[in-house]
Amino acid sequence: MQCLVYNTTGEPLELVPSLMGLALHLRGKAVILEVLPGRVARSVRLSFPLPKSVVLCRHRRVRSRVASLSNEHLFLRDEHRCAYCGRHRRELGPRERLTRDHLVPRARGGADTWLNVVTACSTCNHRKDDRLAEEVGHVPRVTPWVPTRGELVARRLMQKR
Ligand SMILES: [Zn+2]
Repeated sequence: MQCLVYNTTGEPLELVPSLMGLALHLRGKAVILEVLPGRVARSVRLSFPLPKSVVLCRHRRVRSRVASLSNEHLFLRDEHRCAYCGRHRRELGPRERLTRDHLVPRARGGADTWLNVVTACSTCNHRKDDRLAEEVGHVPRVTPWVPTRGELVARRLMQKR
């Protein structure tokens, strides 16, 4: 069971085991926002509700917050939708899958960086091939952006709900 830790600014920071969230709370370092229904941690005499989310009492400075670029992270950023046809992963055919598409193709010197990649279904990606989106009249519906680790953690959690 996991617990989402929010910074004082409301920005999601990380997932920790619920017991660690509880420990933060008991040590006065965080306040419980939501508890996991029906889940408790027991000591000899006491029982404590396990938190689903906590907010830190003091601001935590975060360094290197940009998420690493992997397909898993990319699809999370783009909510598992093709940037061209807009279909969700669930709407793809049995032989289709989500892929990483480079706006400026790698073959043309495009970088493998957050701002140059979008999620594309395999069909749209093949149609585009090594051409620029404008050349095929196939412009992505989304503008790529650089996600932080916290943003992706929050997205993953929202998916599960
Ligand atoms: Zn598509």
